[in-house]
Amino acid sequence: MKTPIFRITTSAYNEAIKTIGSKPAENGGIFLGSSPDIITEFIFDPYGETTQVTYSPHTPYLNEALKKSINKLYGIVHSHPVGIEKLSGGDKTYLAEWFNYFDNDFFFAPIIQSARETDFKIIPYVIFRDGTVRETTLEVVPDDYEPYLKFLEELDNTVSRQDVTEIEVNQPEILESKSVTHEMESLQLLSVLFGVMDNFPFKTLYHGLMIVLLGSLFLMLLAFSPGLHYLFVQLLKS
Ligand SMILES: [Zn+2]
Repeated sequence: MKTPIFRITTSAYNEAIKTIGSKPAENGGIFLGSSPDIITEFIFDPYGETTQVTYSPHTPYLNEALKKSINKLYGIVHSHPVGIEKLSGGDKTYLAEWFNYFDNDFFFAPIIQSARETDFKIIPYVIFRDGTVRETTLEVVPDDYEPYLKFLEELDNTVSRQDVTEIEVNQPEILESKSVTHEMESLQLLSVLFGVMDNFPFKTLYHGLMIVLLGSLFLMLLAFSPGLHYLFVQLLKS
């Protein structure tokens, strides 16, 4: 069976951080959703029996909360002491029993490292009916997840439909960006002409041109007016 992604809405995720993620190990709760594809609800178990190394859910409280919800149970979560990031043998035995009461093919069974004791971390495990445990991917989605998932699906389809040939033929984008560059260049050139460009090479070029232009004007004046020519000769002699 394909490993399901542990996809959870922002508010359900935040609720888990605010409670289990901020309290000492061991604490726990359950994850609910309308389907296993998205976890939309988290219920913290305030009455769970906890020691520093064990967590036993308060089943009457959780069952009551489950009855009140429109969602189904898809996960059980609890926090572990610092550095213990895997499900224990006891966890697996205990979780296996849940399959006797629910018809799920799997449960998400993440382990949390609480921010009370170290950096917050959620390690997303999945336990299957046959007892197999796999680590999966965690994906936090917006509460209004439908447009977001639709967008992801469209993006996925676009990428998978694009083969190499299509990418090679897809020239318009490249041309478009080229024309943008040209526009930029002419803008830069305009700025140079108006002397407002701070770009160093252009500024140097601009100043060089001005010197050449003024120089030739000066030489032309000298050549065309002999009186002025004489004046400069006298000035140089003095
Ligand atoms: Zn445990």
